[in-house]
Amino acid sequence: MPSDVPPSKGFSSRPASQAGREALFPSATDAEWTDWRWQQRHAVRNLAQLEKYIPLTPDERAGVQETSSLFRVGISPYYLSLIDRDHPLCPIRMQSIPVRAEARVRPGELADPLGEDKTRPEEAIVHKYPDRVLFLALDTCSVYCRHCTRRRITKGGEAELTKEQMRRGIDYIRRHPEVRDVLISGGDPFLLTEQRLEELLAPLYDIPHVEMVRIGTRVPVCLPMRVTDSLARLLRRYAPVYVITHFNHPKEITPEAREACERLVDHGVPVENQAVLMRRLNSDARIIQELSHALLRMRVRPYYLHQMDVAEGCEHLRTPIAKGMEILQQMRGHTSGLAVPHLAVDLPGGGGKVTLQPDYVVERGAQETVFRNYKGERYVYPEPEEVDCSCPYDAVWRERRWG
Ligand SMILES: *Cc1c(COP(=O)(O)O)cnc(C)c1O
Ligand code: SF4
Repeated sequence: MPSDVPPSKGFSSRPASQAGREALFPSATDAEWTDWRWQQRHAVRNLAQLEKYIPLTPDERAGVQETSSLFRVGISPYYLSLIDRDHPLCPIRMQSIPVRAEARVRPGELADPLGEDKTRPEEAIVHKYPDRVLFLALDTCSVYCRHCTRRRITKGGEAELTKEQMRRGIDYIRRHPEVRDVLISGGDPFLLTEQRLEELLAPLYDIPHVEMVRIGTRVPVCLPMRVTDSLARLLRRYAPVYVITHFNHPKEITPEAREACERLVDHGVPVENQAVLMRRLNSDARIIQELSHALLRMRVRPYYLHQMDVAEGCEHLRTPIAKGMEILQQMRGHTSGLAVPHLAVDLPGGGGKVTLQPDYVVERGAQETVFRNYKGERYVYPEPEEVDCSCPYDAVWRERRWG
């Protein structure tokens, strides 16, 4: 963010990580703390390190041990510093420290819950929808989320794409003119060096039929110091690039995170948020509403609220489908429409995403439709007499549209 631009209204500039940093990493200098590579080098990656910083519950200690062969632990010092050391249900803690339930695979849970490997024509590409692809760039993250449903990849073993795999992924997109939207994910693409990221963005930018790129990243949440001016300028050069981030709880929206998001937006990079609904972590309309409001205050748009995928070891975090609908019902009409995300269920086995919303239709007739509004009152919407909805000018427009 250019230094003469003030932050958006309503944010303090005192770092939220200050107290935790003083308690846990007293010898870190400012230069170290704000250096994302220092944060990566000092990430907590095993039980012995974790016990030095956080008084673990027996469930957490056993959880770290029992999941050690299943999925990595990795927590940046920044994210660790936000943990409530006195409360095991702290949302930051629940997202980063495993518990025993995570080691249990329930019947029906899948290693590849979204059937992505069935629609993976290249190592790097998941092509499930007609006009857009997912590009899997690497398998590492700044924090390994306990709710990660792509852990078959992020547990390691796939590593960063080789130059050859990256080239084949880009070639695939070049050969498929129907692909107009490329969603780069992983792992976390913002852990790539700027050079590697550019080696991906530049050729995509040169493919005429690729109209836009989205980058899915948890860096603004877990490693906000990675969002440097230089990274933001790089993204802006390849506009339109949208950043899709992943805040799940208002506790994650710190002054540091706000600065990272606003830096992107100020450079002309729109930021959207995808949250995952998790039982006892954010499964409450009040929390989702506060999250949405805090996102909008830093100019980040709530996009999806995801129903938890049916992934191995995630049962304890899943909510009943009705919970998400109830949350939306408590938000729609009661607060800004911009604050209400789409509630998405990604169908197990590879069916793709569908969205759900509370049903406001009471009666559907040929002449009129009867609704109830957000307060539960009945309203009638009359149907028009004419029903021809064709648009004759479209033939003209399709011939002449300007570029
Ligand atoms: C979610 C997803 C997308 C993007 O879906 P949108 O609804 O356009 O945001 C694309 N590809 C895959 C495989 C996905 O899972
Ligand atoms: S950042 Fe994303 S890919 Fe990485 S562990 Fe978290 S949810 Fe999984």
